[in-house]
Amino acid sequence: MKHNNLWAPWRIEYLKSLSPSPDDQGCFFCNYWAAPDRDREHLVLWRTPRCLVIFNRFPYTAGHLLIAPADHLPDLADLPDPALLEIMRLAADAQKALAETIQPQGFNLGLNIHRCAGAGLPGHLHLHLVPRWDGDTNFLTTCAHTRLISQSLDDLYDQLKETSRQLNLPTALIGRMDS
Ligand SMILES: [Zn+2]
Repeated sequence: MKHNNLWAPWRIEYLKSLSPSPDDQGCFFCNYWAAPDRDREHLVLWRTPRCLVIFNRFPYTAGHLLIAPADHLPDLADLPDPALLEIMRLAADAQKALAETIQPQGFNLGLNIHRCAGAGLPGHLHLHLVPRWDGDTNFLTTCAHTRLISQSLDDLYDQLKETSRQLNLPTALIGRMDS
């Protein structure tokens, strides 16, 4: 199918991000966590005491975000309660930011735990937040023909940064969760 061609660059970037290479070893969540000075380049939207919120570079729809704890752990049960709470607080904040910025009509929020469940990076748990619109099941086959998504990744990053500033997100609660 010809629309796959336009998605190939994204998939290549995505697969590269999952594979160790000489200049980018191992897990991209861990790499991003360790490089706060490169947050803009990595499309890290928010960095909180225990988590990162980043743009999925192989998005299901525009604004598809990933919320990952700092700890490289595969299972929910491995995470301490403060990290679990912070992940859900960030999901709520991210939903609010997306709602304000791009007005989705709905959201999917999900965890793919272990490879057989669809986890692209099973060693490092992460929560997907996917904005949804009526009829967007056709999104990949229709909009992928255009440059909409590639443009919107960078543009949307800036828009969400601005919304975050205006709404004071992520919430101050996260700062008070450190104990
Ligand atoms: Zn990791």
